[in-house]
Amino acid sequence: MSNIRFKALEMAISRPRRLFNDIPPKVSDYYGELTFSKQIMREYMSHEAYNSVIKAAEKGVRIDRSIADQVASAMKSWALSKGATHFTHWFHPLTGSTAEKHDSFIQPTADGKAIETFHASELIQQEPDASSFPSGGIRNTFEARGYTAWDPTSPAFIMDKTLCIPTIFVSYTGEALDYKTPLLKASLALDREATEVCRYFDKNVNRVFATLGWEQEYFLVDSALFNARPDLVLTGRTLFGHSSAKDQQLSDHYFGIIPERVIDFMREFEYEAHRLGIPVRTRHNEVAPNQFECAPVYEEVNVAVDHNQLLMHLLEKVGKRHGYTVLLHEKPYAGVNGSGKHNNWSLSNDAGENLLTPGKTPKSNFRFLVFLANILKAVDAHADILRAYVASSGNDLRLGAHEAPPAIISAFIGKQLTETLDLIEKTDKKSVSKAGENSGNHIKIPKIPEILLDNTDRNRTSPFAFTGNKFEFRAVGSSSSCAKPMIALNLIMADQLKKFRIDVDTLVAGGMSKDDAMYSIIRSYIIDSKRIRFEGNSYGEEWIKEAATRGLSNILDTPHALRSLLKPEAIRLFVENQVLTEREVRARYEIKLENYIRKIQIESRVMGDLAINHIIPISIRYQNLLVDNVKGLKEVLDTKTYVALSKNQIDTIKAISEHIAVIRDQIQKMVEARKAANKIEDPEALAIAYQAKVLPFFGEIRYHADKLELMVDNELWPLSKYRELLFIR
Ligand code: ADP
Ligand code: MG
Repeated sequence: MSNIRFKALEMAISRPRRLFNDIPPKVSDYYGELTFSKQIMREYMSHEAYNSVIKAAEKGVRIDRSIADQVASAMKSWALSKGATHFTHWFHPLTGSTAEKHDSFIQPTADGKAIETFHASELIQQEPDASSFPSGGIRNTFEARGYTAWDPTSPAFIMDKTLCIPTIFVSYTGEALDYKTPLLKASLALDREATEVCRYFDKNVNRVFATLGWEQEYFLVDSALFNARPDLVLTGRTLFGHSSAKDQQLSDHYFGIIPERVIDFMREFEYEAHRLGIPVRTRHNEVAPNQFECAPVYEEVNVAVDHNQLLMHLLEKVGKRHGYTVLLHEKPYAGVNGSGKHNNWSLSNDAGENLLTPGKTPKSNFRFLVFLANILKAVDAHADILRAYVASSGNDLRLGAHEAPPAIISAFIGKQLTETLDLIEKTDKKSVSKAGENSGNHIKIPKIPEILLDNTDRNRTSPFAFTGNKFEFRAVGSSSSCAKPMIALNLIMADQLKKFRIDVDTLVAGGMSKDDAMYSIIRSYIIDSKRIRFEGNSYGEEWIKEAATRGLSNILDTPHALRSLLKPEAIRLFVENQVLTEREVRARYEIKLENYIRKIQIESRVMGDLAINHIIPISIRYQNLLVDNVKGLKEVLDTKTYVALSKNQIDTIKAISEHIAVIRDQIQKMVEARKAANKIEDPEALAIAYQAKVLPFFGEIRYHADKLELMVDNELWPLSKYRELLFIR
């Protein structure tokens, strides 16, 4: 008899170390060598063309045809010099991953030879057959054409000898079919509104953009063990598995010494990342065994999002070379911490100032408070949008499980800032005017200590925490594209800043000074949004109760979280700020629901297959061994001894039968629930049926299967066990 688990174990344990010694000693020697960077552009293009591309990148100014010709020609020369043979438009369809279709540079000539060509038209626009990408009903297959169009804000790069050109992806009728399009639009809206607000303080500001530094958590598992787990292979997570006697209880993995084989892998993928200009800088062990994290230096949001997409791809690709499979799922293992992707977000202007850094002067302090108050107001007004934009079936297993923030959106700002905002709340304009001791104008802006950054009163449990000069959005799941949370944050911020200007301008029109008006408006925002601030332990039970009394929502699952997207206010938000049309909002909602339904459906099927074809037959085989044993005992022992000694065995035989009976029964009921659900036509009701009627069977089925795992002879058990998945490295 062959047991695949033991074969996998043998492979995993004896896997030869991959030594990769081709990495040059100095990162600066190869950093960015595979990206069409600003430096390369300057080298390969005229001054005029270079400036046009930069302008397009920063202000969305159109690039004209002759310039595009130059860019294409420069890209081609550079790519060929790097050994590239193909090019592709690289985009992010709504599947959540990236897509590409490679075309060769070659063009046959009349004399039977070939030359390499790459024209502006090929750079600017392509028409991939879009019929197999999700569109939420926007694109009928008979008008299957979709367009990809060059995004000059994110540098082209070379991967696997292919020139990859970041692009947006839209339907024939111009509707967005990707994540990049709304992200770019949200960034434009933010720029438009935030720049105006900055100009209240400094007329020379021309641009504001969001910055993003993500932290990517992931698990590594030996590929042989992974392949011996059909649930991991098909769903990305383990649907069965008793916890290991030891996992994270001793907290001995977090920040521990990185195992040698893992370091070999990390060095190689960091090398590949650096060649692509992804500024990864930090790496460490995470809390759970075999869980790790990497983080880059932050970048402009669109580039950072692309870099995270690329990095996820690199992790998987380089992992394979080392015999590792990278698990990006939010909760691959029950009972140990899941994986998140903290999105560190801030705002920067074209003078390179971080708008979320409390400044040294009263003026920059005031500007900081204006942005802070607007952020809090935006998060309070649109907490449900943020929640919806981090929702996924994987993240449902993580949020609120005492290892990640709860599903309640709140903001943490720390003790000092809380005191500052409390002071503002207490000090209305009049009393401040009387106090009147501040420079230049007569508003007293509370002084904010400059040492906020070093201030370590960090709260690790908050979903949205101020950490000195940025907010850290921690509710994002590890497999999610950063585009989703970034679309949501940038959009709600743009909308809020627009309202702020209207509010301020109204007061100014009524005769108030601009500074007085700004003060009075942010004071009202600080008061109005107070409920969103929470400084305590967000993992605690008390917070759930208190949040309810504050009227904050605690939406536990994806189908209910997604509902918020169809509320009139949500649609207004997207439409008015020109980020998505109503049709696009609705289409995306449907795609997300559909995705949720499919995922739960697949998990449920895999669960049934594994239980019926793997777990139950093996358990019966073991049970038969026990039965034979008991029969044998009866033959060789006198009755009294037999009765005394066989009791345990017989109890186990019975217990096995009982667990099997429950599993069979529950699976049958789960299948019935699925059948009943599948009759539902309305997608929302269908998703809710899967969440409320199908998903609840998982726990019970798993409980009994995991009990069997503890009983059945280790030699027979077919699925890699938690101790193997989590500790072999
Ligand atoms: P943690 O302590 O939460 O692990 P770090 O201090 O290591 O976090 O920083 C996490 C991330 O925050 C890094 O990716 C870093 O580049 C990013 N970050 C720092 N400053 C900013 C900023 N102004 N805007 C966006 N991200 C930033
Ligand atoms: Mg962090």
